[in-house]
Amino acid sequence: MSLRSLDPRAPWVISTHDLGRRPGSMRTLTPTLPAPVDLAVGMIGVPKDADVELDIRLEAVMEGVLVTGTAQAPLTGECSRCLDPLTSEIEVDFQELYFYSAEDAGEDDLLLDGELLDLEPVFRDAVVLALPLSPVCGEDCPGLCAECGVRLAEAGPDHRHETVDPRWAALQGLVEEQKDDQEG
Ligand SMILES: [Zn+2]
Ligand SMILES: [Zn+2]
Repeated sequence: MSLRSLDPRAPWVISTHDLGRRPGSMRTLTPTLPAPVDLAVGMIGVPKDADVELDIRLEAVMEGVLVTGTAQAPLTGECSRCLDPLTSEIEVDFQELYFYSAEDAGEDDLLLDGELLDLEPVFRDAVVLALPLSPVCGEDCPGLCAECGVRLAEAGPDHRHETVDPRWAALQGLVEEQKDDQEG
């Protein structure tokens, strides 16, 4: 529950002035807003100030304003397998009831500040939940060679190393020493 007062000039602060408070009253908005800062999880996120295209419906209900919407935003990040830069996009749905009065609202509910509501926390939560934990540049990205770190997509399917496990090498050494002893 947030009681801080909102800045009417902040891009994600929406005015419900035109909506009014008569239950059933409805408005739709399709603003393009700059992405807020720090909207990333791990290796991928929405770049700050990127265009977020919103399609929102505001609906006055008894207790407050119900906001239902979708948002489309670009994503940039790194492939979790090959570490190449990647770009993609994300579309999220959200719905939130902003209460007129703190008396009706629960701990985690959002409140209107007069005629204003802040859409940013709702958009932020929806995006953070929807971001892929292990983004990939392509579903078939083979990643990096565990041995030398080369990109397997460039090195080709025949890339491998003639390596001997160090523990195995130690054993081999032992066997050869014993042979020497017997022959010795
Ligand atoms: Zn990749
Ligand atoms: Zn290799």
